[in-house]
Amino acid sequence: MRRTAQVVVDLDALRHNLARARDAAGKARVMAVVKADAYGHGLAEAARALADADALAVACVGEAAALREAGWEGRIVVLEGVADAAGLREAAALEADLVVHAPEQLALLEGAGSRRPLDVWVKLDTGMHRLGFPPEAAAGLAARLAGLAAVGTVRWMTHLACADDRRDGATARQLARFAAALEGIPGERSAANSGGLLGWPEAALDWARPGIMLYGASPFTGATGETEGLRPAMRFETRLIAVTRRRRGDALGYGGAWVCPEDMPVGVAAAGYGDGYPRHAPSGTPVLVRGRRAALVGRVSMDMILVDLRGVPDARPGDPVTLWGPGLPVEAVAAAAGTIPYELLCAVSGRVPRRVVERPHAVQEAGRR
Ligand SMILES: *Cc1c(COP(=O)(O)O)cnc(C)c1O
Repeated sequence: MRRTAQVVVDLDALRHNLARARDAAGKARVMAVVKADAYGHGLAEAARALADADALAVACVGEAAALREAGWEGRIVVLEGVADAAGLREAAALEADLVVHAPEQLALLEGAGSRRPLDVWVKLDTGMHRLGFPPEAAAGLAARLAGLAAVGTVRWMTHLACADDRRDGATARQLARFAAALEGIPGERSAANSGGLLGWPEAALDWARPGIMLYGASPFTGATGETEGLRPAMRFETRLIAVTRRRRGDALGYGGAWVCPEDMPVGVAAAGYGDGYPRHAPSGTPVLVRGRRAALVGRVSMDMILVDLRGVPDARPGDPVTLWGPGLPVEAVAAAAGTIPYELLCAVSGRVPRRVVERPHAVQEAGRR
């Protein structure tokens, strides 16, 4: 038996969101970020929907290889670069661009001799304090890279630490530091993730690097993608597999963690932390039953959650349950569970079948069957 829980990926929503990113990017090119299996949407399918992007970005060489296997012939940027000579050889064979963020990676390129040259993106640390060279090293790096047979075109990037908050002054300071470090140094520049792109139009520079917005979620804390003109690309759905009437005082599920305040109907939906639903989602976390709002109650189990059906008294076993997706923003579930949409989208587990549709009305038809 197939798992009742499934993920439906709407390729049309991905295309719509990429168009929205392009719109925000103006003349800048768009590198669509598809690391972590396209934020849980499926790398090959996402690459197909995002064919209009100027490049795709992944975290590691293994993901770049998967993209080539999926038939992507365009530019690939490996955001963490490589850690050893074998990685460098593989990147060269895949014709993937490498981010260079550390002296060890520079040494690898220097030791590589003349092979098919790779384009590199030198990462400067303008305030994120995770990866990257100090900004004042830029001129020296440019000189060293210019002489290397293993290196083709050199581009520059930095990453924004606080672009999820439009009022945070750190983003403007990072952008200023980046511009100052590269004054007079040639090469295209890239700084903006989704938050940077939507919140600071001047951050688009030559290449924008949107990720989360392509999947329809807002990069901003406390907002939803809809406000930004985005459409959710993932519906995480399942069905009720039981509906029971409980008595006032009945304690539900593991630990008896939720006690019925009155006689009431309770549903069991077939999805749990084994499917990637967050185990720490508390009672009150919203779900949709047959399109109507209901609330999770009690502890999340591995394969099931319990649902307060007082608001949907006519619910029956077999009724569709939306865990997040159109009608229930993943941002709302993330906020209830004390996490961010990124984590929820990436966490949907491998046992959950993924169905890909070209258009949302195709989903509705399938749901009606
Ligand atoms: C993940 C990532 C992005 C995309 O970030 P979003 O917040 O998802 O838009 C951009 N640049 C780098 C270097 C990243 O690691």
